[in-house]
Formats: sequence, C-alpha cells, structure tokens
Amino acid sequence: MTRINSNRISKHMSYSIKELTLNLNVNEKTILRWIDCGLKVIPGCKKPMLISGVSLKEFLKNKDQKKKVKLKRNQFFCFKCKVGCYAKRGSTKEIIERKIAVCRACNGKMSRIIKPHQKDYKILSTSV
Ligand SMILES: [Zn+2]
Repeated sequence: MTRINSNRISKHMSYSIKELTLNLNVNEKTILRWIDCGLKVIPGCKKPMLISGVSLKEFLKNKDQKKKVKLKRNQFFCFKCKVGCYAKRGSTKEIIERKIAVCRACNGKMSRIIKPHQKDYKILSTSV
C-alpha cells in the first residue's frame, strides 16, 4: 500500500477528482471509494465533483489513525481480525525485523515489527 502525501494538498483549495488523481498519484476509483467512506464533497458541485482541501486533509488524517493499532506486549497484529491478538502457543517465528505468528482467535496470519530497543525481550516470547 502506498502512503498518500497529503502535503501536496492545500487547505485553501478545492479539487476535482481528476486533479486529485494527479496530485496524490492515486486511482480515480480510490477517490470514489474515499467518498463512499465518508470523504465530504462540496455540496452542489456535481460536474465536476469538488472536494475541499480541508476535508480531504482531515479525511486522510483520520484514515491513517484508524490504521494504527496499539499492540500490547506480546501481541501481534492479526490481518484477519484487524486488531491486536495474542499468538497461538508455539506459533511465533522470527523473520529478520519482524515476527510472525498464528492468531489464537481466528488462526489467521499475524505479524509484528521488532523495534531495535525491543530486541532484548524477544527471547522471552519465542521460547516454546
Ligand atoms: Zn485473528
């Protein structure tokens, strides 16, 4: 997934979908999906549909925050549950800078990035 650089959007301007695809380097369908997901369109503008820079910036900010999941110690991010979950006993594996595991709740794949300062406690959780 590519990160969208909202710095290329000015708060004081309105954009058409076409302009946004060029500025943000995203697909038109992506913008239409954002509108479905609650991105506000300036009322009364149908052709072309206009989106104000302010609401777009706000939308992208909220979108980023929703993605971030706080993990507790020994928790992994489960791709199926979309939340922090605990690993099934003995399922954790380490791959370079990340650990993978199987979700205790849904048997889905989970992963967690190991930050350098957390390296010392990895031994605790990988022992089977
Ligand atoms: Zn799960």
